[in-house]
Amino acid sequence: MVELQPSKLVVWVRFPSSAPYSAGSLPAVFLFYFFSGGAFELSKKRRKTNDKKGIFRLFYPDDSALCEALQRYFGHSSFRPGQLDIVRALTAGRDVLAVMPTGAGKSICYQLPALLREGVCLVVSPLIALMQDQVQRLIQNGVRAAYINSALTENQCRKALQNAAQGMYRIVYAAPERLMTPSFLHFATSVPISLVCIDEAHCISHWGPDFRPGYQRIAEFLSLLPQRPPVGAFTATATPRVREDILQSLQLSQPLVTTSGFDRPNLFFEVHQYSREEKLQALKLYLSQKSSASGIVYCSTRKAVDELWMLLTAEGYRAARYHAGLSLSERQTAQEGFLCGQASLMIATNAFGMGVDKPDVRFVIHYNLPLDLESYYQEAGRAGRDGLPAECILFYTQSDVRTNHFLIENSGAETAQQDAQKKRLSDMIQFCFTQSCLRRTLLRYFGEAYGRSCGHCGSCAPRAQRASLSRMLAKETRQKSPVVDSRLWCELDRTRKLLARRESRPAFAIASDAVLTQLCLQRPSCLRELYRIPGMTQTKAEAYGKDFLKVIAAFS
Ligand SMILES: [Zn+2]
Repeated sequence: MVELQPSKLVVWVRFPSSAPYSAGSLPAVFLFYFFSGGAFELSKKRRKTNDKKGIFRLFYPDDSALCEALQRYFGHSSFRPGQLDIVRALTAGRDVLAVMPTGAGKSICYQLPALLREGVCLVVSPLIALMQDQVQRLIQNGVRAAYINSALTENQCRKALQNAAQGMYRIVYAAPERLMTPSFLHFATSVPISLVCIDEAHCISHWGPDFRPGYQRIAEFLSLLPQRPPVGAFTATATPRVREDILQSLQLSQPLVTTSGFDRPNLFFEVHQYSREEKLQALKLYLSQKSSASGIVYCSTRKAVDELWMLLTAEGYRAARYHAGLSLSERQTAQEGFLCGQASLMIATNAFGMGVDKPDVRFVIHYNLPLDLESYYQEAGRAGRDGLPAECILFYTQSDVRTNHFLIENSGAETAQQDAQKKRLSDMIQFCFTQSCLRRTLLRYFGEAYGRSCGHCGSCAPRAQRASLSRMLAKETRQKSPVVDSRLWCELDRTRKLLARRESRPAFAIASDAVLTQLCLQRPSCLRELYRIPGMTQTKAEAYGKDFLKVIAAFS
């Protein structure tokens, strides 16, 4: 019997007294619901009729509650592709292995279930910068969260763990090496754990690009918990071998396995083949068309970054540089300069970008060939986070292949890992020479089906279009922008910058360009109306709403 309720599908299953369910199709029904993100529970309401022995209720968790929480804590009115299935499954207590790229809205997939379930959610994360960034955002959104890592003093750590053991936080971030320490175990076994989430789960696998031994003890940690919580594993690396390793190492039980959100329709991909001499000219030509747009140029070595940076700054470009050879304060200054727009260009090695969220990067250029498609797509994906058109240009030079082989052979990794790296490099090279749709090639590599040609990459776009593409995209952006009162926009922008300075944060963390545009168009007159603006969370509306409303009121 199927009963449809608003936003809730409920299926009642009855057990006939004469035919036990093991004989029939019941297990199949259960499996179907389980695999489609559903859950089941024993109904408290038993229906008193003669032929029913017991009733299970199969249901999809109520999506309207999920949407409401999404709006309340994160300010979004709808889920992005792929998010809802994961949120449903984790909320219902089912394990998940989700393959999704950085920037596809991964954190919401576990943060939302964490807020809807009882207890503390543990997030295992490899990078201190990522943890700090996430925790800061959660706190801004009114969620009690903390991180426990080596950036804290011993005293701070102890205090944080004490607080956590008292259930003071909803979400706690920690590095994998931290899990098995006595103090952390004490905390983890003294409070109910709502979820365990593993970020960058591919670090578990020897076959992945970032193997990290600490990840291999996560399974042991899980086994020490009084009750095994649902486990969500997230990664952007999806080769079948790595996926299998994750499933096995974590012993996920009947997990929902999804690959989603890899497509970024607003990104235009293009590969150019140049000689070493041509490359610099090509880069300058490209930059000359970009005027003040923000962009990142990735180089493979520190030396290449330094050289290019000197050449470009000497020619008057507002460029910052970033690599691991610079001091911490030099790196911070460079990053802040780029975030606030003082420098429009960031020239960097792959050390730059983790945890950096600048939404209006209009182009990412790979000046050298990356080691693999995983790094390429992650770095290129830092363009166009705001959803507006952006370009990802890859320069291919034969000599880079030799450099990359050299880097792999001298990485000090074991032979098996080197072989895996070489295989990934050969996939990277193949991508540079493919005649077919670049987007489809990328998405297939990450296990996402994409049938057609995209019409919006270096292989698909008609030749004439390609040459003048930058101009075309700029025109398109202008045409698509809705008509807003520019004076109001500037005034709101000024307010945003004042607030940002007051809180020492980048301006877009107060409100994005898209939010300002919506404020101009919708002109809310009270907090309730303000709260309906996409991207405006309850916490932000409460913190900054009055300032924005004052500006808008002065204009109406
Ligand atoms: Zn294409």
